[in-house]
This record gives sequence, structure tokens and C-alpha cells, in this order.
Amino acid sequence: MTIQNYINGQFENPISNNWIDNYCPANGEVYGQIPNASKDDVNKAYQSAKSAFKQWSQTTLEERSRILIKISELLEANLQRFAEAESKDNGKPVSLAKVVDIPRAASNFRFFGHAITQFASESHESIGQNAINYTLRQPIGVVGCISPWNLPLYLFTWKIAPAIATGNCVVAKPSEVTPMTAYLLGKICNEAGLPKGVLNIVHGLGTTTGQAIIEHPNIKAISFTGGTTTGAHIAKVVAPMFKKLSLELGGKNPNIIFADCDYKDMLETTVRSSFANQGQICLCGSRIFVEASIYDTFKTDFVKKIKQLKVGHPSEKTTNIGALVSKSHLEKVISYINLAKEGNGKILCGGNRVTIKNYENGYYLEPTVIEVKTNDCRINQEEIFGPVVTIMPFNTEEDVLHMANNVKYGLSATLWTNNLKRTMRMSNQLQTGIVWVNTWMLRDLRTPFGGTKASGVGREGGFEALRFFTEAKNVCIKY
Ligand code: NAD
Repeated sequence: MTIQNYINGQFENPISNNWIDNYCPANGEVYGQIPNASKDDVNKAYQSAKSAFKQWSQTTLEERSRILIKISELLEANLQRFAEAESKDNGKPVSLAKVVDIPRAASNFRFFGHAITQFASESHESIGQNAINYTLRQPIGVVGCISPWNLPLYLFTWKIAPAIATGNCVVAKPSEVTPMTAYLLGKICNEAGLPKGVLNIVHGLGTTTGQAIIEHPNIKAISFTGGTTTGAHIAKVVAPMFKKLSLELGGKNPNIIFADCDYKDMLETTVRSSFANQGQICLCGSRIFVEASIYDTFKTDFVKKIKQLKVGHPSEKTTNIGALVSKSHLEKVISYINLAKEGNGKILCGGNRVTIKNYENGYYLEPTVIEVKTNDCRINQEEIFGPVVTIMPFNTEEDVLHMANNVKYGLSATLWTNNLKRTMRMSNQLQTGIVWVNTWMLRDLRTPFGGTKASGVGREGGFEALRFFTEAKNVCIKY
């Protein structure tokens, strides 16, 4: 299967004719080629976006909304095909892509299709000065959207939908590891009647295609989701060009469990928050802290449940844990398990590669629970981003708060307790952009989404995203 760039509504080969292999994580085999788009391709995508901008930025909100909602409907109509493509590219179970990734990508278009019709600008009457101020929210122009491999279409569309809803034209790049559903999205956009050039999708390596996008002098804003190191590099490149920048980066999220929680609900949700999508969700709770009085019970029950999870081929209905996304990522995750084996923690379950008959070269790994003694160890401080969690007991609220915050990241935290005052105290003090109490990954697309510290800069979601993708201009009129 050959993937092509999507520029000005057309599918085309890269100008340089430079290609990269696309792997299927479930069997470790190459199943297609994707362009490694060069500066020239990115510039061609930019020119196409620039030409489309004049008309798209003046297209009525009703018309933009209608097209976004049409894209959403077409994604829903193609659910099975998209879910299978996502699974083949990423290794996640088809069953998961069918209920999370693709429906959510459709929701992104529907949500921002509606949101743009409700996006009002402000006006301020300057009483006593005979003046009125009103604020225009103008599209920026051509913007760049760069996304990672873990929730490929979901995160790609989370950026594209608000960018085009606000009247911008886009040069977008999905992860080179999972390009397939982004490629298919181009076809849906044509079918939905999105004017040519409003969305352009270029494929390729971060260091080639991604770098060309961030360096392009006329791509005026960059919305990036990915690793913290890449985010730091992008910040350095774009800062002297004064581009608007949104960074959604890595995490090392605490999952804090108090003895007074609803135990059954907590246990079931903690299994999901640890291992959904093979633990490859930036919001997964990878550091589990449990109040000492229920630690032994939790440890026994949790490990028992994890041992019941079935690692298998992503297309099998009974599979809970599919394949990791790539060989290099599998090796990275294993290197952290090896740290535990070297004495930095005790492996309570998992820790080994899984070989599946007929798919022996697939990137399968057992869900792994490691008991650690301290929060300072590398396993608790560095993002592993795979099916690996740590557990350790705590004694007091102060201790656990300190450990939860004592990490360079600050994306999300989960808190399990029925004590209202403790909930309020801890939610106030946790150094994260998102706190879930007695739930996990309950998403309302209107809420601000993003992290503090090394987890990013800025917020996505709802009107925050619409504000990011617009330039505020204040007009003051004296009468
Ligand atoms: P990555 O940083 O390696 O790549 C992300 C994207 O950036 C890819 O499209 C890649 O090609 C591109 N890229 C790489 N180098 C670039 C460069 N020099 N210039 C421009 N673009 C470049 O991340 P990944 O491995 O794909 O994704 C995993 C990471 O993403 C994890 O750290 C995870 O926590 C993070 N993530 C964060 C969120 C969030 O919302 N905060 C959500 C999902 C994933």
C-alpha cells in the first residue's frame, strides 16, 4: 500500500521521490511505503494552503460548520474501515479503535463544527470616554499541525478541526509511524466538499518533513503533540520567528488511591488507566500510589486482574492488549523493565515479550507491574509510555502529594477518594493541567486540555483551541 501526500486536494508522490517503509506492528512486516516529504513538498503544501486562505477565511461560519459536520458523518460511516486501518498501522486492538479513536476523531469535527458557530468576540464600552472597543478574532493564515503515533487520527483531527473551523488553512503531518488514517482522511475531506488546499497533509520523518514545517517562514503557528525533547527542539526553532506555539508533551501521571475510595470502581478503572492502548496514552496513570492500609489487598487484586488481560493479535475480539507501535519503542520499554530486573524494583507480573503463533515478529509485551521502593528511581521519573506501571504505598496525604508533584512532568493526575475536603485540597495543589477524581479519561471537549511543567505550554480544547488558532485584534472607536 503506497501512501501519498495530499496537496491541493490531489494525491501525489514526493517531489524528491524519497520513500520510507511503513511497518505493521502486529507482525513486524513492512506493508507499504510513505513519502519522506522534503522542503519542496512542504513549500508546495504551503502555497496550496496560502491560495485557499483568501476564500476559506471569508467562508461563512455556517458553511464551514456544515463541511466539518459532513466530514464527521463520513468518518462515522467509514468506522470499520478506519478502525481496521488504525489498528493495522498502530497495533492497537480494532475493538479499541472502533470505540475510541475513530468515534473521537468524528467527534472532533462535529464538536468544532458546532463550536465555531458559538465563538463570539468581545466588546467593551469605555464608559466616560465615549468609546467602544471590539475584538476581532481573525484566522492566523497558514498553520502547521504535527501529531504523534499513539492516537493517530484522534490527535491529528483534534488540531485540524479547530484550525480549519476558525478559517485557517493547514499544512499537517501525522507521525511517520502511523500515517494511514491521515492519508484516508484526505479522501473523506474531498468527499465532504472541503475546498482544495484548506487541508494539506504531508508525510515523512520528523527531522525532514516536520523540520521543514517548523522552519517555514510563512507557517505562522505550530500546534504540536509529541515527546518533550521534540517539543523543546521545536520551541527553540520557532521562538526567533515569533510563531504562535502550542505544545502538548509527555507525562508521568500519578494515580493516587486512598482507602476510602469506591474500591471496585477504582480497581476496574485503574486497570484501564494503566494499560489501555498498551499504556501508550499520554494520560495513562503510570505511577500508582496506594494508601498503606489497603496496599496489600490492592496489590493482590490488581496483579490478579492484570494477569487476566489477554495479549493478542489486534484483530482478535478477545484481545485486551495489542502490539506496541514499533520495534524501537518496544526496545525502549523493555530497557525500563530491565532496570527493574537489575534491582531497581520488583516485577510483580509481566516483564516479558509475548510470542504469538503466526505473528512471531510482532511487538507484543506482557502488561507489567513493578513494585518500587522510592519515587526517585528512573522508572518513576522517566516517561516509559508502554504497558508498564509502578506501584508503591504511602502513609499520609502530604507524602503522596509530594511524590505526585516530584517529577518533571505535569500533565494529569487521578485521585481516588470520597473525602470532599481532601479532594479539594489535593486538586488545588497537584501540579498538573488535568485532575480526575474518581474517574479517568472522562472527556468533555469544551474543557481546557494540556499540561504544566515539561508536559507542555498552552491548552487545547473548546474555545481555548479556537483562541489559539486566531489572532485577537482590538478596535477602539471614539464617538
Ligand atoms: P515524537 O516527539 O517523536 O514525534 C511527534 C511528531 O513530531 C511526529 O509526527 C514526528 O515526526 C514529529 N517530529 C519529530 N521531530 C521533529 C522535528 N524536528 N520537527 C518537527 N516535527 C518533528 O513523539 P512520538 O514518539 O510520536 O509520541 C509519543 C510522545 O507523545 C510521548 O512523549 C507522549 O507522552 C506524547 N503525547 C502527548 C500528548 C499530550 O496531549 N500531551 C498526547 C499524546 C502523546
